[in-house]
Amino acid sequence: MSTQITTPAAAAGLHGGGAQLPAAGGAGRPVLELEQVTKSYPGQPPVVALAGVSLSVQRGELVAVVGPSGSGKSTLLHVMGTLDRPSSGTAQVTGFDVAGLADRELAVLRSTRIGFVFQQFFLAEHATALDNVADGLLYAGVAARERRHRAAQALARVGLAGRAGFRPPQLSGGERQRVAIARAVAWERRLLLADEPSGALDWANGQAVFGLIRAACSRGVAAVVVTHDAQLASRADRVVYLRDGQLADQAMPGRGQQSPVEAGVNG
Ligand code: ADP
Ligand code: MG
Repeated sequence: MSTQITTPAAAAGLHGGGAQLPAAGGAGRPVLELEQVTKSYPGQPPVVALAGVSLSVQRGELVAVVGPSGSGKSTLLHVMGTLDRPSSGTAQVTGFDVAGLADRELAVLRSTRIGFVFQQFFLAEHATALDNVADGLLYAGVAARERRHRAAQALARVGLAGRAGFRPPQLSGGERQRVAIARAVAWERRLLLADEPSGALDWANGQAVFGLIRAACSRGVAAVVVTHDAQLASRADRVVYLRDGQLADQAMPGRGQQSPVEAGVNG
């Protein structure tokens, strides 16, 4: 057994070590609710990556995040995914106040309720596509047989049924990305977070990946997708613009531009 860190679970420390989650908060709440979230990194002077972001995402909603390099997009996604705790402000994720949970509980929350698609795919090179997807469910408490069944279904959904037995080196970049997406959607999680999921892909594959995320949303998943592709962003329900760690503006594609104040982003 290799000890190489190649899965997102290992890379992100997702293993909950048997911890349990307390009862979730109110069922009618947004899937994601950030209030005046700041995130600073120590330094001289400190780096303020997020400078007071308030944002809610509802069930079934697809939100695109755009902004220049260094504007805080990845940091925002990390806070949403409970991989980083806010320096100040509150983050409520799938009914839980992040500040109220211990690290072990956050690990359980991530593995059972949040699907991640990282910029690097974090696939295990020696494992088949099927095992890469099935292993993503290891810590969700799913039995081995069921894991493989769900993994096969998810691979079929991304058009890779015929590649289930292939290992990543035998797959194209687009196929590897689709394996990573399959892993994120194999289990009905509440929240899907993707950091430039189409970044490494050609146009057609970028469209396909976005379509898969959209399909997850139609099943009730809330998704937040960082993208620099304006055309893809325009297919989201909402586009939020980050600048210098703040929400500069937001738009509802097809419904015209709204100011942040009208839209209640910063209020
Ligand atoms: P983006 O994804 O929009 O390019 P990031 O969220 O990665 O932006 O980074 C926002 C800012 O925070 C940048 O100035 C970056 O250098 C800084 N930053 C990100 N992560 C760290 C870290 N671990 N330590 C110090 N500074 C960081
Ligand atoms: Mg980034």
